[in-house]
Amino acid sequence: PARTRFAPSPTGYLHLGSLRTALFNYLLAKRTGGQFLLRIEDTDQKRTIPGAEQRLFDDLRWAELQWDEGPEVGGPYGPYKQSERSAIYKKYAQELLDSGHAYRCFCSSERLNSLAEFKHKLGLATDYDRTCVSIPKEESDDRAHRGESHTIRLKVPDQYPAYRDLIYGTFRPLKKRGHVTESSYEDPILLKSDGLPTYHLANVVDDHLMKITHVIRGSEWMPSTPKHIAMYSAFGWSPPEFAHVGLLVDEHGNKLSKRNFDTDITAYKEMEVFPETLTNFAALLGWSHKEKSDVMDLKTLIKNFTLKFTKGNTTVTFGKMHFLQRKHAALRAETSGPKLDEMVQNVVALLTALDTPYKDWKKVISTTKPDEYVEKIIIADADNYTNANEFLYRNAFFFAPLRPFHKISPLSTSPDIPMRCHMVADVSEEDWNRENLMQKVHDIIDGREEGKKGSKDVYHYLRKAITGHEMGMRLYDVMLILGRGEVLRRLGVGMG
Ligand code: GLU
Repeated sequence: PARTRFAPSPTGYLHLGSLRTALFNYLLAKRTGGQFLLRIEDTDQKRTIPGAEQRLFDDLRWAELQWDEGPEVGGPYGPYKQSERSAIYKKYAQELLDSGHAYRCFCSSERLNSLAEFKHKLGLATDYDRTCVSIPKEESDDRAHRGESHTIRLKVPDQYPAYRDLIYGTFRPLKKRGHVTESSYEDPILLKSDGLPTYHLANVVDDHLMKITHVIRGSEWMPSTPKHIAMYSAFGWSPPEFAHVGLLVDEHGNKLSKRNFDTDITAYKEMEVFPETLTNFAALLGWSHKEKSDVMDLKTLIKNFTLKFTKGNTTVTFGKMHFLQRKHAALRAETSGPKLDEMVQNVVALLTALDTPYKDWKKVISTTKPDEYVEKIIIADADNYTNANEFLYRNAFFFAPLRPFHKISPLSTSPDIPMRCHMVADVSEEDWNRENLMQKVHDIIDGREEGKKGSKDVYHYLRKAITGHEMGMRLYDVMLILGRGEVLRRLGVGMG
């Protein structure tokens, strides 16, 4: 069983990319019968956004990615919020100091800045020059005890250890010490001068203490992984498995990010994208499977999940999401239950909020059970459903009176056509069911009862008179839902 974690920093909201990261971790844990943890990495207090943490909880729960251990639910390795674990990180930084794997760095930020500037001008990597690595232990202890400001740095080995990424394969940092061209290979700071940990220290210590077996995270963290591996080996711990997933980019190759409001989960919620649509959509970004269909709810995703990620970035196009939304709408309609009820309530709320032309919608529908009426239409139209607004736009004729077609249609001048359509009235109230209506519509179009040739005009007239549109869901479904009285009214039967 895998123990995985999602470790967001509350410096922004959940967006498509981070939802996908959370989802993959969730799926692996559930697939293997393990646990999915949530850990809040709020070591960078300056960048923390008030309220972001609560929104992360809400958005994850909305997406149905409930964590087994973490904030609000607890667990054996808590607290799960890094700002509440400072003492733990201090202790482990001290341990590395004592074992000689770390050292105190007394360099001022001014010195470090000008060093970096200088090296940058010379075209060199701007990594730390290790001035403080050679300070004798007694001197270092003494300066620390006298309260001199310092950080603690990891003393990385001359050759970074290689590691095997589950997706990208063996990763062998190229440069040996002394030939460093990548500043990311410098001795990373573990503990800042204020005594708080950096991301690197807190992340590694927590993954170890929380017994994480697999880390699935965005490839932007790949440059950090050698540092993390070096830290694991300094502690004498065995590292978890790493699986890095490529970034999400738009059609122009630009990174989708949490700074891009389009992809904040709230935007999807506001568009009424279903959670199962969004998780299905996110899962397919850079993950491949062998199933016949791409349409999968969370349970099915768990069942089919493997670590088959594609290398490299994934371009996000939203056509697929709209396709999945319609498919999941159809599944909701098929299954019925609370998810279908939610769609019904959204439509009813919208109808009630709008005024013209729906002011009298409850009168138009001539039924005492508006919810059921709406539900029937949703079911009949489920293959097209995207959200309440579009649904209503497409199906307005169910809720608002139409202009009497028999008075305005040029086709009415051929008296034969309306007359043939009036034959709908032959179907009595008791016989008003799907089968009879289907038969009747056929008869009318074929003109069978009067022995006349079929006519496109008749069908056109019938549909236009009843729905106001030339296309849409099956006509007999419309007639069934509208009811006999309303259909005859729209055809002008008995009204001259
Ligand atoms: N706190 C990091 C983030 O915000 C976590 C990175 C990781 O998964 O190690 O993405």
